[in-house]
Amino acid sequence: MASPSGQKTVVVGAGPVGSLAALYAASRGDEVEVYELRGDLRDPSTTPLNFTKSINLALSERGINAMRHANSPTLLDAVFKETIPMYGRMIHGEKKGKLFDEAQLYDVHGRFQRAVDRGGLNKTLLDSLEDMPNVTLHFNHKLTGADFRRNLAWFSDHSASSPSEKEVHFDFMIGADGAHSAVRYHLMKYTRMAYSQEYIDTLWCEFQIPPSPTNTFALPPNYLHIWPGGSFMFIAIPSPDATFTSTLFLPASLFAALDAAPASLVPFFAANFPGVIPDLISEAALLAQYAQNPHLPLISIKCSPHHCAASAVILGDAAHAMVPFYGQGMNAGLEDVRVLFECLDAHPAAAYAGDATAARAAALEAYSAQRTVDAAAINDLALRNYREMSHDVVSPLYRLRKFVEESLDRWVPALGWATQYSRVSFGNMRYSEVEKATQRQGRIISRVVSLVVGGVVGLGVVSLLRRGPLWMARRGWNGAAMKLASVVMLPGALVRVMLGQGTLLFYPFPGRA
Ligand code: FAD
Repeated sequence: MASPSGQKTVVVGAGPVGSLAALYAASRGDEVEVYELRGDLRDPSTTPLNFTKSINLALSERGINAMRHANSPTLLDAVFKETIPMYGRMIHGEKKGKLFDEAQLYDVHGRFQRAVDRGGLNKTLLDSLEDMPNVTLHFNHKLTGADFRRNLAWFSDHSASSPSEKEVHFDFMIGADGAHSAVRYHLMKYTRMAYSQEYIDTLWCEFQIPPSPTNTFALPPNYLHIWPGGSFMFIAIPSPDATFTSTLFLPASLFAALDAAPASLVPFFAANFPGVIPDLISEAALLAQYAQNPHLPLISIKCSPHHCAASAVILGDAAHAMVPFYGQGMNAGLEDVRVLFECLDAHPAAAYAGDATAARAAALEAYSAQRTVDAAAINDLALRNYREMSHDVVSPLYRLRKFVEESLDRWVPALGWATQYSRVSFGNMRYSEVEKATQRQGRIISRVVSLVVGGVVGLGVVSLLRRGPLWMARRGWNGAAMKLASVVMLPGALVRVMLGQGTLLFYPFPGRA
């Protein structure tokens, strides 16, 4: 039976992004077929992604907004039911032999992220799909080949005891098959795609923090907990069952050192992540989970374009896998879906003399033009945010900058000031525009601080001249010059930090002697 739109859309990959894309396509009347490599996640016998229990994710505005526009009235309520609000980061450490923690709110307006289990969210999306009469789900089907001129795809079907090959025709293919996308691989043969990938020198391993003996959360539940370690960190995200899913991010060489001497794991945790063992995880559980759970790499992928003529587009990790430090990988992938369908809606066949293929080609061209830039921007921001999470959060100057920016946002809203974090996590501004706005703010701060520096230096010079040659002779040239230098360098160091150029510079307080 012909679908209302007359279009057959094949979605490859039933992860969060593919499932949402299928929902959007189905709500526009397409005949939708979804092909997924693994078995149905909702079946308890299915091996979960990455072979770990699950990944807990931060779901933020972009992901929520994409689901809000899915024409599925009950979807968001069902998703929200399984989430826990996280109002900020809670930083853990030790000072003078005493444990401390410090909450840093994400947003001056009280906005929050939601901790969600990736598998749970995926199941909710699959449930919504199952309710649509024009959707068929094919689990245990692996894409093995595609011809984007003849619009044919081949799948190996493992759903029966003996695998078989299937040929499938499509009008439009959406590839949402993750970082190691087969759709992307085949697409490259049909379009001049620029592609780059980078493995960062950090691996991750997952741990579980069980509920406390009274069966409540072992840590305050409404935070993303961080134990910053400089070049490494340990984080914990709450789950509705009062556990925390925690992740150790560590350079590959340190993982190798711990692998070579497993007994050093407990002292390593005790030295670097105070309060974790044995209070939150027993030593035995730590050792067992470190041995059982895989130590996985982190990949960052950029490619352009994201489409091929009118035939196919790649979304989510398939197009822009990123490191997880901005909590945006899935959010950006879900946003891809909203932006894609906005582009398709903006190019109706009617505007192309009824030629649906020409309309779709124009829509995909517009989509790629917009999205490749934004995907590259969030990819870069995510790479940079590792330093903020693992190091800068404990720097007084990081806190000062956050305070200044948030105060402007709160008390002088007419300036339109906002932190980069809140623009990324609590708004829907294009990622590339967020980058530009952050740079604009940086330039303004730089000018203001330059004026202050100029004023302070001017005052310093005037004060030296007023004290006169006698005072200069008494202090000696060095003393006087050092005094002036100290007045100049402190604001200079502040400028650099305000501009996000790094850590507190070496600041010799020369006039102190
Ligand atoms: P995937 O989830 O990878 O789904 C792809 C699907 O395609 C899979 O089901 C796979 O089985 C299927 N598939 C693969 N190959 C084939 C084939 N040949 N044929 C058919 N099907 C195929 N994101 C956030 O937004 N917030 C966070 O806080 C966050 N934290 C993270 C923490 C960690 C440690 C990691 C590793 C990632 C994190 N992410 C986060 C990123 C997020 O997990 C991904 O961006 C998201 O899962 C991507 O979804 P996807 O649907 O594009 O791809």
